[in-house]
Amino acid sequence: MISDCLFCKIVAGTIPAARVADDELCLCIVDINPQAPTHLLVIPKEHIASTAHAEQQHGPLLGYLVEKAAEMARLAGLSRGYRMVINTGDDGGQTVNHLHLHLLGGRPMHWPPG
Ligand code: AMP
Ligand code: ZN
Repeated sequence: MISDCLFCKIVAGTIPAARVADDELCLCIVDINPQAPTHLLVIPKEHIASTAHAEQQHGPLLGYLVEKAAEMARLAGLSRGYRMVINTGDDGGQTVNHLHLHLLGGRPMHWPPG
């Protein structure tokens, strides 16, 4: 837990969020500024600042986040497909420095992304 980290505070429950799933390893919440009809964030409970800070030991946890996002996509009925995104660093568009996976769906996604 990093005391000035927004997502650590959401994990701890000291800042409210719309929780859609919660288990021992991660929390899934609705993004406060949705970019698609379905926009969820899958947040590991462990504070890892970004993928650039992830180490080999985090491999199983990162795999778990992808699996959890796929489960959330199934529950949300995203049978036509969806996109998973992990922004990293300033050029990657990361604004919260606690690694998280975006699940976006419910509309066609464009490529290349913005
Ligand atoms: P990123 O830009 O990849 O770091 O993503 C951060 C995401 O967190 C953005 O999509 C924000 O809309 C979202 N966000 C910021 N504050 C909150 C909050 N309090 N509850 C839910 N989502 C949030
Ligand atoms: Zn954190």
